[in-house]
Amino acid sequence: MQNNNINGVLEKRLCTGCGTCSLICPQGAIKMQDDSEGFKAPIVESEKCNGCGRCKRHCHAIKSTKKYSSKISMCLIAQNKEKKIAKKSASGGAFVGMAIEFLSKYQGIVFGAALCEDMEVKHIYVDNVKELYKLQNSKYVQSNIGRSYEKAKFFLQNNKYVLFSGTPCQIAGLYNFLDESLLEKLYTVDLICHGVPSPGLFKKYIEENENEARRKTKAIKFRVKNPLWTSISSFYMIMIFKGGLPSIRKPSEDVYYNIFSKGLALRECCYTCKYALPDRIGDFTIGDCDSHKFYPHFHPNESNSTIMINSIKAKKIWEESFGKKFDFSELDIRLEEKYNNQLHEPFKRPIERDFIYKEIFQRDWGIISDKYANEQKLSGKIRAYLAILSPSWLVNIWGKRNG
Ligand SMILES: Cc1cc2nc3c(=O)[nH]c(=O)nc-3n(C[C@H](O)[C@H](O)[C@H](O)COP(=O)(O)OP(=O)(O)OC[C@H]3O[C@@H](n4cnc5c(N)ncnc54)[C@H](O)[C@@H]3O)c2cc1C
Repeated sequence: MQNNNINGVLEKRLCTGCGTCSLICPQGAIKMQDDSEGFKAPIVESEKCNGCGRCKRHCHAIKSTKKYSSKISMCLIAQNKEKKIAKKSASGGAFVGMAIEFLSKYQGIVFGAALCEDMEVKHIYVDNVKELYKLQNSKYVQSNIGRSYEKAKFFLQNNKYVLFSGTPCQIAGLYNFLDESLLEKLYTVDLICHGVPSPGLFKKYIEENENEARRKTKAIKFRVKNPLWTSISSFYMIMIFKGGLPSIRKPSEDVYYNIFSKGLALRECCYTCKYALPDRIGDFTIGDCDSHKFYPHFHPNESNSTIMINSIKAKKIWEESFGKKFDFSELDIRLEEKYNNQLHEPFKRPIERDFIYKEIFQRDWGIISDKYANEQKLSGKIRAYLAILSPSWLVNIWGKRNG
C-alpha cells in the first residue's frame, strides 16, 4: 500500500518527486527513495526532523512558485533550420536550437534529461555542443532529477549562464529551491507534458525485453522520424541490443507505449497537474505543434515545434540569439490550446490506474503484454526496419526535397 501522507507535510498523491525538500532540509532528515510504484518520493526520518517547516515552505506542490520575470505571452510554430538536428529531435528541434546558442554564445551550462548507460533517465548537464545529443529527444519516463538543482545553483553562484529544461513540475521545484538573488542568469524551458510513468515500470520493461532477447540493451529510442517517406515523428519504440538486431514496435503494439500514451500509469500528481495551463512556469515552453494543420505552408511534411515565449527575459534572448536558429511564424495560442490537451487540462485519470502497478509488479509479464499491447503486424515490422536501416544520403535527399 502507498502511504497517503508524507509525514503530515503533504498528501502523497500531490508530490511530484522534485526532491527540493530533501535538498533544503537543514537536518538532512529527508531522503528520496523508490516507492512501491517505482517513483522517487521523499521519506522523512522522524527522529532527525525538528519540525522547522522549511520543507513545507519550499514545496512547490504546497506553495505556488513565484513568477520572477515579467510575464508576456508569445506563441510560435517553429522548425530548426538545420535539417539534421530536426530529424533527430522529437518535433522541430526547438530544444537543441536554443541550447546550441546558449552553449556557444553565452558559454552557458545546459541541463536536461538523458538516457544514461545504465538505462536510467537522469537529469545531467552539458557544457559543450558535442554532448548535447545526450539531452536530445523525448524520454517518456520520469527523469531522476538527482542533485541537479544543487549543481545549477553552484554554476549560478559562479556567475555562469544556466539553461534548465524539464517537465513543468521540475522547473517549479528548481525555482522553489533557488534564492531569488541567483535568478538573473537562469533561463528555464518547460515541456508541454502529458505526464510521466515511473522509472520502476521502465526498468521492468527493459528487463523483460532483455530476458526475451537474451541480450543487454545498448540504446532505446522513444520516437524516430521515418526518413523513407516523411519527416513526421513516429512513436516507434526501438530497443537496440548489444550484438543483436533491434526490436522495433509501433506504439499500438508496444506494451510500454500503450501504457504511456493511454496515461494508465502516470504519477498520481499528473492527473491533477496544476501546470497543464497556457500560463506557463518556464521562460520558454516547448512541445509538439498540434494545430499545424492550420499552417499548411509551414514545413508541411515535417513535425513542427510549438515554442512559447513567456517572459521579457526570454523574448530578449530569443531576439538576440535563439531565433536565428529557426524558421518560425506566429501561432494562435487558442487553437494550439484546443488541440494540445495538456495546455488546458491534466490527463484524465483512467480506472486502470487503481490497479495497474500491482499488476505490473505482481503478474507475469506475458499477461501484461497480452492485456496492454496488440500483436505486431509483419508489414509494420518491415516498414520500421526499412526506416531504421535507410542510409543517411537518402535521409538527406529526402530532407532537401521536403525542406
Ligand atoms: C514525458 C513527456 C511528455 C510529453 N508530453 C507532451 C504532450 O503531451 N504534448 C506536447 O506537445 N509535447 C509533449 N512532450 C514534449 C515533446 O515530446 C518534445 O519534447 C517537444 O516537442 C520538444 O521537442 P524538440 O524537437 O524541440 O526537442 P527534443 O530534442 O526532442 O527535446 C528534448 C528536451 O526534452 C527534455 N526531456 C526529454 N525527456 C525528458 C524527461 N523524461 N523529463 C524531462 N525532460 C525531458 C530534454 O531535457 C530536452 O530539453 C512531452 C515530453 C516528455 C518528456
